Amino acid sequence: MAETIFVCGHKNPDNDSIASAICCAYLKNQIAQTNGENVVYKPVRLGPIPVESQMVIDTYGLEEPELISSVDLEQKLILVDHNETKQIVDGGMQAQIIEVIDHHRLGDFVTAGPIRITMFPYGATASILTREFEIEGIEIPKNIAACLLSAILTDTVITKSPTCTDFDRKQIAKLAEIAGLDYMEFGLSLFKCRGGESTLPIEKLVCADSKEFARAEDKTMLIGQFETVNLEAVLEREAEIREFLKNLVAEKGYEFGLFFATDIIAEGSQFIAEGDTSAIEAAFNVDAKSQSVWMPGILSRKKQVAAPLLSL
Ligand code: MN
Ligand code: MN
Repeated sequence: MAETIFVCGHKNPDNDSIASAICCAYLKNQIAQTNGENVVYKPVRLGPIPVESQMVIDTYGLEEPELISSVDLEQKLILVDHNETKQIVDGGMQAQIIEVIDHHRLGDFVTAGPIRITMFPYGATASILTREFEIEGIEIPKNIAACLLSAILTDTVITKSPTCTDFDRKQIAKLAEIAGLDYMEFGLSLFKCRGGESTLPIEKLVCADSKEFARAEDKTMLIGQFETVNLEAVLEREAEIREFLKNLVAEKGYEFGLFFATDIIAEGSQFIAEGDTSAIEAAFNVDAKSQSVWMPGILSRKKQVAAPLLSL
């Protein structure tokens, strides 16, 4: 029987984590087939599939990653779109991580032996994967092109995020051509299909796209982001969001919880924070204690929110 290697994105998967798992597994399987290797690369996920990912999977008939919660010691793993231990599958650090493909800062990741690591400061892991197809000489089929494209568009907020590089723009153009899509139209359709500003259960709204970051050994912050084309509807729920954040901070012992709703049309974000918010005040020079704050130009959690807080 062929050995199965998991390709896995981070906890609380976003579209880049889902799409990268699908497309990386496809690429690796193509390479394995060419080389006559008896292995199967299987996309897996650590949480629910985002609405826009489901739309792309359904529209293009892609393999839906299987939900897992932990891995055994012998399991071989490729990590995509993450490397921080807090975001890795339970048991992952004790299992056999054989490769990492990522576009985030190097966190606290250490390995027992030498492994293959491909990291670039591009706007999406999907951009790095698009490059990998080229290097390996593997043709990108239409459905994989649409999947990769969707991930670059959601991670870079349709190229508006400061994390979007010229390299990403080139991959977007290339993939849109293969998929026969107008990238702007496709990008807006991805953000619009998310919806749920008024209807999502509060934990989904705040936590579906949230990440924990260790600021110090005893200080963990939670940063949740919700990208929207209807900010007003999100802010109507501020009291509810605060109540939820406050309980979460108490329950999990976070230093603070920061939720920010990003208006992708207005190109800025509204910060709502609970807990010890002094780090937020220091990093952004705003009073985030009792009121929500509009932060013009802030679109990227990684570059504009997490980075300043981590470098304090
Ligand atoms: Mn991600
Ligand atoms: Mn990403």
